[in-house]
Parts: sequence; C-alpha cells; structure tokens
Amino acid sequence: MPATDKIRRVERALADLASNEADCRLCPRDCRVDRRRGLTGYCGIGARAVVSTALLHFGEEPVLSGTGNCGTKETPAEAPGSGTVFFSGCNLRCLFCQNYQISWQRGGREVGDEELAGMMLVLQEQGAANLNLVSPSHVLLPILRALRLALQRGFSLPVVYNTNGYDNIEIIERLNGIVDVYLPDCKYTRPEPAARYSGAADYFDKARAAIQDMFVQKPDLICNDRGLAVSGTIVRHLVLPGQVADSLAVLDWLAETFRPTIPLSLMSQYRPCWKAPVELRRGLRPEEYRMVLLKAKSSGFDPLFAQPNLFEAEDHLNPDFERDEPFRWKPS
Ligand code: SF4
Repeated sequence: MPATDKIRRVERALADLASNEADCRLCPRDCRVDRRRGLTGYCGIGARAVVSTALLHFGEEPVLSGTGNCGTKETPAEAPGSGTVFFSGCNLRCLFCQNYQISWQRGGREVGDEELAGMMLVLQEQGAANLNLVSPSHVLLPILRALRLALQRGFSLPVVYNTNGYDNIEIIERLNGIVDVYLPDCKYTRPEPAARYSGAADYFDKARAAIQDMFVQKPDLICNDRGLAVSGTIVRHLVLPGQVADSLAVLDWLAETFRPTIPLSLMSQYRPCWKAPVELRRGLRPEEYRMVLLKAKSSGFDPLFAQPNLFEAEDHLNPDFERDEPFRWKPS
C-alpha cells in the first residue's frame, strides 16, 4: 500500500479515536479516564507512550525475525531481526508475565511522538524486517501519531501488531490498512483461568471477536522473497502448566472457526516468575507441550511454529529489561 494511503488511514483512525484521549475506552477495561490530564487507568500509562527498549529481535517467529532462528540460540548472519518496540504498562497484566518489569513495574521512559517516530526510522535504517509493536493496545494513539510522522519521512516497513488479544473489535476495525501483520495471543477460552491469571473473565469473548476481525482484514500469510511476512495474521498460544485442557480448547476453536491452514505459533517458553500462583510455580512439562503440539499437528495448522526444545537451560527468550541488552541472543 502506498505511504500516502496509509497516512490517510492513520489520520482517519486518529480522528475516529480522538475521544479516547479524554475518555479512554481503547480496550475492554473501559476505564474512561482523561489521560491528557495525566490520569491513568488499569494500564497505568498516561497520554504519552512509555518505551522500555527498541531493538532488533532475533527470537520471534522465523517469518518475523528471519530464517531459522525460532527456538535456537544462534542468530544466522542473514537474519535481519524484527524491529521491536517494547511498550511499558499493559491492559492485561498476567500474574505470570515474563515481561513483568515493563508490564507491571512500567520500567522505561516517556517518549514524545517525535522520538517514537525516530525509533521507527532508526529500526528501518538498521535493516529490520518489520516494525513489531509489543503491547500496543493501550498506547495506540501515540503510536498512530508517531507512525504518521515516520511515514511522512519515508518509513515503509510492515507494521506488526503484537497484542495480548484483549482488544476491542471496534478498535481493531480502525486499524484496517494500517497494520500489516496481526500477532495476537489467544490465551484462554475459559473464564476461570482468564479471571485468576489475568483479571479478565471476559478475555475470550473479547479476544475471539478481535481475532476474527483480524482474519477478515488479513486472512492470508504472505511472505516476500526472503521468507519474511508482509501481511497476515499469526495467532500465538503459550501452553501453561496444568492447563492442557484449555490449550486444546483454544486449538479447537481456532481450527473450527478458521480454515485449518491458519498460522499458529505454539509456545513452550513458560517460566514461573513474578506473581505466578502456586499451581503455576513450576515449569511446563515436556509431555504437556507434546500433547498440545500433537493436537496442533493433527489439526493442520499451517504454518505451525513450535518450540519443542525450550524446556531446559534456554534463557534467551526470558528477557531482563534492566540490562542494556535484555535478550541473550548469542552464546556468551
Ligand atoms: S487503554 Fe488503559 S486507560 Fe484505556 S481503557 Fe484500556 S486499561 Fe483503561
């Protein structure tokens, strides 16, 4: 899509969503706070985005980071990396969040629209495969304002919307023609774990509607000649200890709702951290992951991104945002 079209869509979305600045309903928490006056709702973030870090990420799915690096520690020389911006604060805040230093503790610093646009352009200059916006839902307005500036200055990377899935469908509809690749989580189907672990009993109701609209907008995963995604929707699911039944229910819903070739990223990288309740204070057992992986394979998800060997010793996908380099990509 030409930049001028995208700029027009961004401007229209900003106009449509402007009322959220003073009466925030950007996500299902529906806080209705005036963020312009520095008031904060559940996500804990005011009018300006807070960024923890912006970097080339080599641990995302191969179609996002580059070839061959999903679940391995080595970074192939040819991998461009995903141009990732980690936003602080979160509208979901799972008790077991591996990014708790930024989602709960809100580490990072406030950035203005100009500075955020500059980060986007620097990532492009560094050769990033895309712009990967991590936890964008609660800072959508500053993101759109910065994206408009960046587009006006030559920014042209595919935009990846890397969301926890707790989104309003009305907001996702506004992103049509702006987002190129949707990367939503689908965490739970049952209200009980959604309420206990994420304080959102209605998680599945909201995520289900949002993900369905993402697929309407971006039904096919399209890659360029380097094998990097330029359009599409990839659903992520993290298998939790003791929650295999709900993982299987997530897969059933995805397979029944969408054609079976829907792209799925099935994650095994769970580690107990932060406020994980007692039943989650252990690692995922290989047999638990294998059971879900078997189901994913038999359901025909394609492509299926899997992490079959991430149970022991691999720490590079568990970041420490207090370090200058939060991830350990290369052998030390
Ligand atoms: S974005 Fe933040 S303030 Fe707005 S409704 Fe969601 S949690 Fe509340």
